[in-house]
Amino acid sequence: MSTVVGAAAAAFVAHGVVVAGLDESAAAGTEIAAIVAMVASPVALIAAVVLGRAITAEVRRSAARESESTRILNEQRRRAEHLATGQAGVLELIASGTSPSGVQQAIGALVSDETGGAWTVSSTGLTRVDQSAEHPGQDLEVIVDRLLSVTRERDRITSALTHQATHDGLTGLANRAAVLERIGHAMRQRRKEPDVAVVYLDLDRFKQVNDSLGHEVGDELLKVVAQRITDSVREGDTVGRIGGDEFVVVLESINLDQARMVANRMIDRLLAPLEIGGAPIDVGVSMGVAMVELGDRDPDKLLREADLAMYRAKQNGVPMVEADEDLREWSRERHDIEVRLRGALADEDLTMRYQPVVDTDTGELRGVEALVRLMWGDRMLSPGLFLQLAEETGQIAQVDNQVLRAAGRQVVQWQEEYGRPLELAINISGAHLARADVFDEVMASLDHSGLPPEQLVLEITEGVFLSDATEVAKRLDLLRRLGVKVAVDDFGTGYSSLTYLQRLPVDILKIDRAFTNRLGLTKSDDAIVRTILDLADALELDVIAEGVETDGQLAKLRELGCPGSQGYLFAKPSTAEDFAAQWLAPKGIEAA
Ligand code: C2E
Ligand code: CA
Ligand code: CA
Repeated sequence: MSTVVGAAAAAFVAHGVVVAGLDESAAAGTEIAAIVAMVASPVALIAAVVLGRAITAEVRRSAARESESTRILNEQRRRAEHLATGQAGVLELIASGTSPSGVQQAIGALVSDETGGAWTVSSTGLTRVDQSAEHPGQDLEVIVDRLLSVTRERDRITSALTHQATHDGLTGLANRAAVLERIGHAMRQRRKEPDVAVVYLDLDRFKQVNDSLGHEVGDELLKVVAQRITDSVREGDTVGRIGGDEFVVVLESINLDQARMVANRMIDRLLAPLEIGGAPIDVGVSMGVAMVELGDRDPDKLLREADLAMYRAKQNGVPMVEADEDLREWSRERHDIEVRLRGALADEDLTMRYQPVVDTDTGELRGVEALVRLMWGDRMLSPGLFLQLAEETGQIAQVDNQVLRAAGRQVVQWQEEYGRPLELAINISGAHLARADVFDEVMASLDHSGLPPEQLVLEITEGVFLSDATEVAKRLDLLRRLGVKVAVDDFGTGYSSLTYLQRLPVDILKIDRAFTNRLGLTKSDDAIVRTILDLADALELDVIAEGVETDGQLAKLRELGCPGSQGYLFAKPSTAEDFAAQWLAPKGIEAA
């Protein structure tokens, strides 16, 4: 055997594929891994083809060398050459992904050619066509068997790989890609009526189960849930798991009423008592249902609508919500805002507004709060419209960091321009503070902007202490040691109590504008603010009243001795230019 053939054969055999007449010792039914490598590796495929050609060439060369006198041998060689060529051709088809029936047809042609049409091939091997024909020979039989078996292995591996790519490893359900594919498929069928429903399911309290009982129990629970969902739907429906504890069911040939029934059935089954490892587990479920409408072409969009309906269900504390036109509209807008926000973050293109914090007695500037906005076309979105979304999509930390950098730079620039150091207040969301790297991020942002830590106030809401109070307190403490101040925003609306406040690393209370609004209305309204001020006094905390809108409110705050104030009465949040013109630029300079 020439070296070319040797090398190619070695490569081929190394991949576990055997060619008749070359290496009888290796079995035709080869190991999966080797076949995977063969199917997956273009190198192996090329080796297969190269080998086929090399065999042919080798056989041809030896045929040429043979002596005239050995006619029988000559005949055998010709047959060997023919078989080798045919086999190489079929291998090429297998490697290039030809369908099993196509491959079988090609093998059949080879056999028919070789036997003058007396034999053909079925999925199990050689088949006699002409009942009087003799057996066409061991060599042909071996080749046919092996080609069929390589084809079967290839298909088995291909389908295993396809399964892996489209299924969730834990539950064996369809994965997100497969679910979207299924929805897309359903959308492409032309139908008279909407008859495909997408149900989005999310377990309630799954995180607690995972955290308190461990991941194994969590995994077990997901499997049970997967089974219960599967048991609630028909054979042809698609059940998928597309996130931690999020499942999607695609129901086909179904109207809205029937979809409701199936959803209710799922709820009933899912809420049935459940034990894992002897311990009762209490899970709840929230569902969103969206029907595929005629003309829908975007599976992602439909999945988002079902997801939002589920989210509504969770918010409203009901098991199920159906997506209606309102929700679809909301979903589209949310999506557009999400896209816009992602763009703005990528381009560092958030818009900033600045609102002064003043000394209540003198009305003089004592600091500035930075408030974020998002420009969307010529609309300016307020934080209420995009911050929660940013929290859900995990972008909130990025928002806060960019605000801190931009506002920090602004304050440093004002300082250089007007020679006036300002205290900068930044809002930092609870979701951001819950992250372990918040300290590093704040420090990096300060560094980046050049703002000294002593000039930074972080405004937090009391809610941040609800989940992981000690960890959050530790992070804030680290920052405070460097001079950063911490303010409790919207104070009075949350969970504050005196004892609670004592333990928290806090410097400033910002009285929520709900209280400021009611100042001067009744004695008891005033008493609340007075109590907060007394409390702050006892704890040696600074206080700022938010949302001061009238002179009457300001007078009352002065009377009660509230040190700081902020609100439309002094200024609305404004652009950096307007803020500087009103609060920083020396007055009457034009007149001079
Ligand atoms: P907040 O921190 O309580 O901010 C004060 C909000 O009250 C601002 O609304 C401000 O425009 C508004 N306001 C100020 N003075 C008055 C007044 O006299 N009367 C009335 N009615 N309203 C007044 P805005 O800018 O829409 O911000 C809403 C909330 O969004 C903020 O409440 C804050 O919690 C959050 N936020 C704003 N910027 C950021 C940010 O950069 N990061 C984070 N995480 N949150 C932010
Ligand atoms: Ca604030
Ligand atoms: Ca506030």
